[in-house]
Amino acid sequence: MKLMIQKLKKYLNFKITETNSLYPFIFTLFFVFLTFQYPFSTLESIFYDFRVRYDLGSSTKNQIVVITMDEESDEFLGEQYPYTYASHYRLFSKFLNEQPKIINYLLNPLGPESEMDGKNFIKFKKAIKSYKSTGGYFRFGVKMDVWGEQYPPIGLKEFGYSLAVLNRDDLEFSKDKVVRRAILNISGDDILHMWTANKFRKFLGKNKLESHNLKGAFYQRDLDATVVSFRYSSSPMEKDKQIVKIPFHKVVVGNFPKGFFKDKIVIVGPSYISNSGDYSFTPFDRESLKAPNIFLHGLIIQSLVENKTVIPISKTFTYIFSLLIVLFLSIFINKAQPTSGLIITISLMCGILLFSFCIFSIFGYWLYTTHLIMSIFIVYYIWVPFRAIAEYKTRFAIQEEAKLIKEVESLKQNFISLMSHDLKTPVAKISGMVDIIMMQVRGQTEIENNLNMVMDSTKELNNFITSILDLTKIESSKLNLQKTSKDVNQIVSSVVEGFMFEAERKEIKLNMELSPLYPIKIDVGLFRRIASNLVENAIKYSGKGKVVDIKTWDDEKWVYIEVIDNGVGIGKNDIKRVFDRFYRVKNDASHSIKGTGLGLYLVKYFVELHGGKISVESELGRGTRFKVQLLNV
Ligand code: ADP
Repeated sequence: MKLMIQKLKKYLNFKITETNSLYPFIFTLFFVFLTFQYPFSTLESIFYDFRVRYDLGSSTKNQIVVITMDEESDEFLGEQYPYTYASHYRLFSKFLNEQPKIINYLLNPLGPESEMDGKNFIKFKKAIKSYKSTGGYFRFGVKMDVWGEQYPPIGLKEFGYSLAVLNRDDLEFSKDKVVRRAILNISGDDILHMWTANKFRKFLGKNKLESHNLKGAFYQRDLDATVVSFRYSSSPMEKDKQIVKIPFHKVVVGNFPKGFFKDKIVIVGPSYISNSGDYSFTPFDRESLKAPNIFLHGLIIQSLVENKTVIPISKTFTYIFSLLIVLFLSIFINKAQPTSGLIITISLMCGILLFSFCIFSIFGYWLYTTHLIMSIFIVYYIWVPFRAIAEYKTRFAIQEEAKLIKEVESLKQNFISLMSHDLKTPVAKISGMVDIIMMQVRGQTEIENNLNMVMDSTKELNNFITSILDLTKIESSKLNLQKTSKDVNQIVSSVVEGFMFEAERKEIKLNMELSPLYPIKIDVGLFRRIASNLVENAIKYSGKGKVVDIKTWDDEKWVYIEVIDNGVGIGKNDIKRVFDRFYRVKNDASHSIKGTGLGLYLVKYFVELHGGKISVESELGRGTRFKVQLLNV
């Protein structure tokens, strides 16, 4: 059972590693495709409205004046909406001499109710006629209600009327009743906004707009209408006061500056705070009673006059763009560190939002952003767990490695104690015993020679153990310097003394030239090892009858110790490597001369541990010179 579980684990482990990047990629593609099936209009409307609200391409142009019929005017005139013809006539007589370019009457006045009103009705009609005869444009904007289109009363109809309706997003897109689109025509008839905008464009010398070839316009089947998303040239909210507005009664009493209506589009209509039907939701605010309809009519006309409409970019583009993002981000997140993955994800998201915002503000292009943003989220959230698994594995491997290193470390530790106690002590005992036997058998040459050989091998073994022990200590950083102030010459001479017997045996002459020195701070034990190794090598690698010079001197900064021999020398290729671990020169001599290849490696290490330097010069067949320099402090 245990075995089976282990096998299963192994199998799963293998699968995950092998398909590390394929699985998340397939998952990502699957989910991204899934999102393509749904429009996420509510989310998109948030992005859309943001672009509209902070549209850098929008500008408030002072081309429209709105005359509002409201509670204040009711009170002032002592009348009620839609007011008597006397008031309408008074309104006209006050501002017509100002020569407004176009007048939109967005109300349905009833027929005259009294004889008196009848007289004023005629006067009102006359006023419109004379206004039109001087080149002004007048038109009623009528509503559509459950009984259909409402018409102006007989007698006024002849002045022209068009539907003036707002399109609230209640059937399409976000279905949140926000005004985002303008209706251009219904069942083929132009809407008041289009009529007014074209008249004004003519006045400005601009070409006529046709609803079927307006940028971004599309046919909405359920309304049988051509619509277009328009760009708000300013905030439609009453509190922002960006639209020029004047109450009805102020015009009636002539309370407005001269030239106020000159060449303007004047929109007359109701805006009663008590009537929520006079207000709409807009991308700027979704609270009621903030944006009066009459302002929205003005803004739609303004956007058409400027021909500033929104052009939706095809969804296919968004889908292709999304897939490219998936590809790029997947590769990046898979390769990069988690933090850079997160940074690039956030930057990409901000970049897309910024890009969509810019192309909207500059060109009026509406890039459908939701799918792009969602794709980024999906990539990120699908890849993160996979990355976490991979990360966990690496961490696990590192932990295992650390454990192993610890184990090796403790093995080394055991090895050190084994070497130092369990091996060194018996070796010391052997050499002690050999010494004693040598004394006992003095004079018996053959036995003495044999014992000398035992002694040599014991020394060799001891050297070997010491070197290995040092190496182990170095590698586990267990070597601490114990510095004391000492005269280098003293140690050098005692080391050389120690080799006198050996040198004599090999008929080698040891010369010392020691200049007087000040004591310096050194680890005596290690320095002894440095000196004896160099002298020992010089003796070892020089043939019979050679000379070894040992010199010391100093200057202000350094103390120099030089060991020079006129022995076999070291070749050019070998000299670069003599300080390497376990490196031994391969020549005829090296076979017969015993060694570990650790001596010079340790010497260099010890010298550098003291902050010193070691160098070597040599010539094959002529000899070798090792120079050690230690800090003169
Ligand atoms: P070992 O002496 O144990 O082989 P070392 O690290 O002390 O190891 O020396 C490395 C090699 O450098 C030796 O094998 C030897 O060939 C060469 N070498 C060292 N000192 C001398 C010398 N004075 N003359 C010639 N060769 C030398």
